[in-house]
Amino acid sequence: MSLPSEKNIQLPELPQEASPAEIISAGLKVADGPVALACSFSVEDVVIVDLLQEVAPQVRLFALDTGRLNEETYEVAEAVSQRYGIAIDWFFPERDAVEKLEREKGLFSFRESLDNRHECCRIRKVEPLQRALKGLGGWITGLRREQSVTRTGLAPLEVDTSNGGILKINPLLEWSEAQVWEYAESKRLPVNKLHRQGYPSIGCAPCTRAIKDGEHPRAGRWWWEDPEHKECGLHRR
Ligand code: SF4
Repeated sequence: MSLPSEKNIQLPELPQEASPAEIISAGLKVADGPVALACSFSVEDVVIVDLLQEVAPQVRLFALDTGRLNEETYEVAEAVSQRYGIAIDWFFPERDAVEKLEREKGLFSFRESLDNRHECCRIRKVEPLQRALKGLGGWITGLRREQSVTRTGLAPLEVDTSNGGILKINPLLEWSEAQVWEYAESKRLPVNKLHRQGYPSIGCAPCTRAIKDGEHPRAGRWWWEDPEHKECGLHRR
């Protein structure tokens, strides 16, 4: 059985144990237009970059430069670009919106309330993402189900109703953290140094910190908020 979408995507049925490569290939077949990888240069995303070189080297990479990223993220972005000889399509927030935000609310307004945090994420991430997705038939993400309570209901191939009904491909959805690292280490992939300093999940510098032993992998993201709020709006459902 397949489900219709706003863009008329017929989602194929995937085998229970579909591999990331199979998920990507199945997604590319049904996407109504070009597909790109949204790359935050997490270890998951770098694994996907590597997989794409064999499965679909035509898929482009885009990244969101929020203006608040860690130096280590830029370093790994450059290492990925050089290793694979690929260009990264960087997207920045609208200058006017950032200037207004910082002039009116200062540099750390996101710590003051959930509304303020959403406002900053909307300006620095969501709006640039919407521009990045324009004209695409689908996008690939490094989301994994076990990362967060907000990600338990995802599917490997979904219709992204928040972004015009294009296809969303989540090839690593069922992979564990151990599987991701095993792949990354076996291929000696460039990885963000912060991962080895207690950061399983890396976002903007002021909104991410290292976690302690036994803490949830996303405990270091917006650590002052409740777990059900720990999304930036890029993956609305
Ligand atoms: S993660 Fe923090 S700094 Fe980055 S866009 Fe969201 S609120 Fe702003």
